[in-house]
Amino acid sequence: MTPEPAHASDLPAAARLGVLGWPVAHSRSPAMQNAALQALGLTGWRYQLLPVPPEAFTETVLALGAAGFIGANVTIPHKEAALALATTATARATAIGAANTLTFDAASGAVHADNTDAPGFIAALPRPPAAGSSALVLGAGGSARAIVHALREHDVAVEVWNRTPERAVELVRELGGQAVDRARPADLLVNCTATGLEHPSSAFEGLPVTADDLSTYATVVDLVYRPGGTEFLAAASARGCTVVDGLEMLVQQGALSLEAWTGLPAPADVMLAAARRSSLPPTHELRSSPSATRRSPRD
Ligand code: NAP
Repeated sequence: MTPEPAHASDLPAAARLGVLGWPVAHSRSPAMQNAALQALGLTGWRYQLLPVPPEAFTETVLALGAAGFIGANVTIPHKEAALALATTATARATAIGAANTLTFDAASGAVHADNTDAPGFIAALPRPPAAGSSALVLGAGGSARAIVHALREHDVAVEVWNRTPERAVELVRELGGQAVDRARPADLLVNCTATGLEHPSSAFEGLPVTADDLSTYATVVDLVYRPGGTEFLAAASARGCTVVDGLEMLVQQGALSLEAWTGLPAPADVMLAAARRSSLPPTHELRSSPSATRRSPRD
């Protein structure tokens, strides 16, 4: 159902897009996607927040095509439900067990599901990981599943550590890699845990690595993003690692979604600038910094 590459003039003059989540108020996606739509000349297109509780998710999504929506992103806690309701799904969404991108066919009522978190993660890296290189993934939740799938597709030797070890064992049983109970050096370290959100000023709490351990990883990625950056990534940067922040992955997964909906190349630089602008806390929060450090977007 991905459209052929198009010109803006080939597309409908007006269309709706959005992000489904609960809660979703802090999502950066409307800012970055609306900036992209403007840059593409799709001035009649709008991307909006779609706050939908779990009990209303399926009914709402199935009505979106008839309401003028061409597609929607999906975030916590709906990614598994999005895959479950889809008429068709890509092989990677099925393998990961979750979808973050839905495309609607209003005429037939069909819903197509994809997962752009996996290729979005690869696109956010400075270069694709080399076959045979090594990676340690921290976490075994939904995002870790997408990251492990992406790395395994590139023949990376992946180790997975999780606070609840049984979940890491289950993840590698389904997607490959090896579950570990301690951190070992690797080419790439990816933090897919929410600890930086839950403990912003002590991001290493509960993790198997200290700040000094980060020097044993050439590249460090933190999926968490917050105004001013995360303590985890600041520690990696201070130790000379190449670092990639969560906003860069957010932009790349969103760019791939937009390309699937429009067939147009997405302006990732415009999207990153808009996402960074929208992650700055309002001026009054900057003046009283404790509330600024509590902003916790999830996408
Ligand atoms: P999830 O499915 O809820 O999984 C959360 C993971 O974090 C689990 O592995 C959990 O371990 C672990 N965890 C939570 N609190 C912890 C703590 N205090 N110490 C150690 N581990 C802890 O969430 P998710 O969808 O994978 O998202 C994880 C993070 O990535 C979130 O912060 C989210 O905002 C971010 N994210 C970013 C992007 C992006 O585009 N940048 C995309 C997706 C997600 P247990 O299994 O032991 O509970």
